[in-house]
Amino acid sequence: MSLATSPTLEQLMHALEHLPGVGPKTAQRLAFHLLKQPESFIRQFAETLVTAHLKIKPCSVCFHLSEQNPCPLCQSPKRHRETLCVVVDPRDVMALERTQNYHGLYHVLGGLISPLDGVGPEQLNIKALLNRLKANANSEPQADAEPVTLIREVILALPPSTEGDTTSLYLTRLLKPTGLILSRIAFGLPVGGDLDYADHLTLTRAMDGRRSL
Ligand SMILES: [Zn+2]
Repeated sequence: MSLATSPTLEQLMHALEHLPGVGPKTAQRLAFHLLKQPESFIRQFAETLVTAHLKIKPCSVCFHLSEQNPCPLCQSPKRHRETLCVVVDPRDVMALERTQNYHGLYHVLGGLISPLDGVGPEQLNIKALLNRLKANANSEPQADAEPVTLIREVILALPPSTEGDTTSLYLTRLLKPTGLILSRIAFGLPVGGDLDYADHLTLTRAMDGRRSL
């Protein structure tokens, strides 16, 4: 039986086409590349995928991906707990961490409000953000415990796109009454640019040049 008529090959190519940015041609190229690899590599590769899937989960506090819950960023005593940076996805956390310029906490929204794609605020981690800020406002410093550092500033690190602006506006309206300092990072990026694609210096400047809302 030739490979072109192999249902297993069809299945492999179909599975690969589920990956972002992979069309039928790339899927075919990847499938043939994988078929040429030794069995040891394929077994290791498959195992890595399954292990990653089982072990890496969203943090129940900030929704960044981690093997621990709460994640190391939420647990670290070194983080500045008075600042909370709202980002779209875990890749943004990683991009900001790479700059080594931001030392506060994070909150991953998991997407942006996009009515055209049927994504409303309820599909995003916005309720969890509000609950987090509410818990923050209600926590009383205890006499015999370490002083609780409360979140004072929320930084919206959302992309300069229509969806980014819509989400930013929505969150601004929602968070303004809390009395927290609200700001949005300044972008030196083309409209629609992701944080993930920005270089260290651009991201550092964007964070340092954040504008009050
Ligand atoms: Zn976390």
